[in-house]
Amino acid sequence: MSVFKSYKTTCSYCGVGCGIIANKDAKGVMTVSGDPDHPVNRGMLCSKGMNLHHVVQDKSDRILYPEMRWSKGHDRQRVSWDQAFDKAAAVFNAMIRKYGPDSVGFYVSGQCLTEEYYLVNKLAKGFIGTNNVDTNSRLCMSSAVVGYKQALGEDSVPITYDDIELADCFMIAGANPAWCHPILYRRIEAHKEKNPNTKIIVVDPRKTQSCDIADLHLQILPGTDVALYNAIARRLIDRKKIDKNFIANHTDNFEELKKSLMAMSISEASKICGVSVADIKKAASYIADAKGFITMWAMGLNQSSIGVNKNNALLNLSLLTGHIGKPGSGPFSLTGQPNAMGGREVGGMANLLAVHKDLANDEHRREVANFWGGKEISGKPGLTATEMFDALESGKLKAVWVICTNPLVSLPNANKVEKALKQAKFVIVQDISYRSETTEYADLLLPAAGWAEKEGTMTNSERRITHLSKVVDPPGEAMSDSEILWNFARKMGYRGFDYNTVEEVYKEHCTLTKGTSIDITGLNYTRLKNEGSFQWPVPQNNHPGTSRLFEDKKFHTDTSNAKFVIPRFVKPTSELITEKYPLILTTGRVRDQWHTRTKTGKVNKLLTHIRDPYLEISQVDAFLRKLNDGDIAVIESKRGKVQVKIKITDTISKGVVFLPMHWGKVLGNDYGRANNLTTSIVDPISKEPDFKFSAVQVSKY
Ligand code: SF4
Repeated sequence: MSVFKSYKTTCSYCGVGCGIIANKDAKGVMTVSGDPDHPVNRGMLCSKGMNLHHVVQDKSDRILYPEMRWSKGHDRQRVSWDQAFDKAAAVFNAMIRKYGPDSVGFYVSGQCLTEEYYLVNKLAKGFIGTNNVDTNSRLCMSSAVVGYKQALGEDSVPITYDDIELADCFMIAGANPAWCHPILYRRIEAHKEKNPNTKIIVVDPRKTQSCDIADLHLQILPGTDVALYNAIARRLIDRKKIDKNFIANHTDNFEELKKSLMAMSISEASKICGVSVADIKKAASYIADAKGFITMWAMGLNQSSIGVNKNNALLNLSLLTGHIGKPGSGPFSLTGQPNAMGGREVGGMANLLAVHKDLANDEHRREVANFWGGKEISGKPGLTATEMFDALESGKLKAVWVICTNPLVSLPNANKVEKALKQAKFVIVQDISYRSETTEYADLLLPAAGWAEKEGTMTNSERRITHLSKVVDPPGEAMSDSEILWNFARKMGYRGFDYNTVEEVYKEHCTLTKGTSIDITGLNYTRLKNEGSFQWPVPQNNHPGTSRLFEDKKFHTDTSNAKFVIPRFVKPTSELITEKYPLILTTGRVRDQWHTRTKTGKVNKLLTHIRDPYLEISQVDAFLRKLNDGDIAVIESKRGKVQVKIKITDTISKGVVFLPMHWGKVLGNDYGRANNLTTSIVDPISKEPDFKFSAVQVSKY
């Protein structure tokens, strides 16, 4: 292909945030390659990133025009944008007048660009007067957000990817970066290859692909992480392998933590988590000997009824050893989505306020409300992801606006979500593709521009902000999410949405960050386009960005010390397994699929890896059920069923089964939808669902 023009952009899949060069020829045909100058991926791309252009090129599934139901029970018909905005504004105004602002809500996505996230929060919290804005990031990162806030005083990832090459011990917990964050994993793999003494500990109930480079795989029983990390912490204290100076000068609550850790012996903890005392001691010795120690975690920790506690216990290991704010060290949550971080920066959840200000703080709310010039902001947290759909089902929430996410497949207890959407008075779905099953329930369907069809910014897992270029025009009448939101706000009669470009939205967000710990007033589109990506904070025009936080050992707490938080629960508080449902179901991702497959599911090259959903089951559990490899099995929980082929494997323990989370309605039925089975239990603080622990039974079809 002869290149007509090249654009720098960022991959739209995982939180690694790889830089991409998108090439366009004279006919507008696109190809992609890894950006060799991007500090994250240095030219590399994984299979998903490499095939992104196919998603853009194939328009067969795209929503091209607004569609509307003139009344419930009727088919949607094509309407103009004017009619669509009129209807949306009329419905929202009517609901707000009759039932109050909390009768409406927005359910958005960690794939939204920062500017889009900013606008939806400003619109809901600052003008409509509701905090009912939540996001699918609730499903993956909210436990980590709470963990960081409790221990460090703010939701701040301390580390930079360049710390990977400086570390000599990694603990990868509840994450499978080999499949889910492949470029990051390749950097760890290459580092280990060059430095074979680097120790890698993987904590996971499954023997995943990431175990290929592990020196130690701690195959814990699902949900028992706290017991394991506490036992490791105890061993470090017993052996005096802790950083006494750091603890004395830069932390609070050590004595209380020590007391709680001493209440359980290592052998007791070993019985709870299913890891031998010898392996617990070995893990502690690897950490004790490390000059640079990094913990990495993802959904395996966060998606739990005690997700916050698991974060607390893991963060304590970094604080005990003083491995934070120094080269090659620190806790590092791996975000699953490309802009979950950007969303958090603009307050993109029901309990957050813009620029890391505190929703519970009157003064903070006043500052943001004055800046926006709209209404007073309520201090009452809004409905979280699962609460929003519960409220739709009960009738408390009347109208929901779903942007760039597919809750019908991704939320737990999907049959309940389906009922909620049927029950809703009005559903708006704003998306790029009919492949999202949720579009079926839209009373108003709005066609959005996709990746490479609009510009904006995203922040990856290491706080790195990258600009995404518009490369091609969106098809049909599709509009960027920002334009849709500001047009709707104007139709509602709200002032403060007179933007002409997304860059204006970005500038406004930057101004609001002034003086905060995420200050990016020194960053603008020109710098991002000319100089590349930057890690926040970037407080002045000539500031190079901040690769590592807390190097001065000043944390964002009242005392400026980091805090040891004692986990409230050591044992899981998940659904109980019973005689009827004796197996623990855990769900997760596969290498070449993404979320609910609305994009990756249409790329043939990606389907060659794994085409259909399957259930991983141990040999013992398969034998007990007279199941052979490849048999169709029925998996059943209290909430529903799925039917998939089974894969007998020795990588999973007896009593545990694994189902990928990506598949929704396969050939029109929901036989592979993992969330037919999953429980609605959530962590009591973060409200993140317990996806990794549902009681099920498996039997032959
Ligand atoms: Fe995209 Fe993540 Fe793959 Fe990088 S590692 S190319 S960001 S999916």
